[in-house]
Amino acid sequence: MKTPFRTRRAFLKTSAIAAASLPFAGALASRAQTAAPGRKLGFALAGLGSLSTHQLAPALQKTNFCKLTGIVTGHPAKAEAWKAQYNIPDKNIYNYDNMETMADNPDIDVVYVVTPNGLHAEHTIKAAKAGKHVLCEKPMEVSVEKCQQMIDACQAAGRRLAVGYRLHFDPNHLECVRLAREKVFGGVKMIEAGFGFRIGDPSQWRLNRALSGGGPLMDVGIYALQATRYLTGEEPILVSAVATNTDLAKFKDIEETITWQLKFPSGIIGESSCTYTFGGVDRFTVFAENGWFGLDPAYNYRGLQGRRSDGQWTAFGPMDQFAAEMDSFAQSILSNQPAKIPGEEGLRDLKIMMSIYEAARTGKTISLT
Ligand code: NAD
Repeated sequence: MKTPFRTRRAFLKTSAIAAASLPFAGALASRAQTAAPGRKLGFALAGLGSLSTHQLAPALQKTNFCKLTGIVTGHPAKAEAWKAQYNIPDKNIYNYDNMETMADNPDIDVVYVVTPNGLHAEHTIKAAKAGKHVLCEKPMEVSVEKCQQMIDACQAAGRRLAVGYRLHFDPNHLECVRLAREKVFGGVKMIEAGFGFRIGDPSQWRLNRALSGGGPLMDVGIYALQATRYLTGEEPILVSAVATNTDLAKFKDIEETITWQLKFPSGIIGESSCTYTFGGVDRFTVFAENGWFGLDPAYNYRGLQGRRSDGQWTAFGPMDQFAAEMDSFAQSILSNQPAKIPGEEGLRDLKIMMSIYEAARTGKTISLT
């Protein structure tokens, strides 16, 4: 049976509550700012791989405040194909070595960094030095130090830095944040969250620590970590973890599967896992005093499914998480407001993920306070 879409009014009410609670930025705050589009900001995608090709470039066509005006690529053949498909002039096509010359190009306001994790700082800092705002894909970088360098570079350039946490703009996640924060099922006691898939090509950068910073934790576990943080609205105080590698040929210097536990100040426990070796885990469940709710699947681009112990979940209409994320960033720039998901949010996750790795390595419970 098809479930009716929620009314716009109900969605706005839901989102306004969620948006009021940090650290979950919420789509509503950006909707509240929505005015008739005036100038659209020019976006340059840096890194024309899978995400840029299949998600970001199509999403840019659906935005109200953004337009695809430039690209940064190391592959001349890709540049030709994108130039033809998206009508990008030669003067707006850059490579990783000449990005700084964007400084004199008014067609580009924002650089969206979509390269492997361990190159985010290099490309963010180059864009900031060219006077561009930066939206950077998750994870923000591979170390706390590099995240801080990115924040410092954007601050020194007087430009905004945001992290591409698309689920902050998905109404299913907003609804779960509302259910948790309003204690609709009573106080939250425990959250289980997990995300994993079976990784293919053994030569890909995701399996190379220098470029990835780690295994599934950096890539997909970060979504489970984010969920436990924004559902509770709290920062964890303790972490313990266990990692395992059963395929030592494929997972030479990164974890294959890792589970971790977080304790939050109110006493809520977060129990999370992620893997590169099996699928079927893409969910979170929030257990509260009088019932439970969650999403399964929870972290996909579309098709998220809500569940509640009282059977009352109402489905949401389709939306493009990436278009909402980019519009929110553009609106923050156009209205001179802080970014909804600033670099500091990405830095917080890096600090926690480094502690998860330390806990797994040492077998000790790590204090995060
Ligand atoms: P990808 O491998 O498909 O693309 C990476 C791009 O970076 C390629 O165009 C490649 O040519 C370029 N590149 C530049 N220098 C490189 C180098 N030294 N080695 C390898 N590639 C290099 O990866 P992707 O899946 O598009 O991921 C890119 C970023 O986006 C990652 O940070 C990833 O975590 C993130 N991502 C986010 C989501 C999301 O849902 N938000 C989804 C997928 C990927």
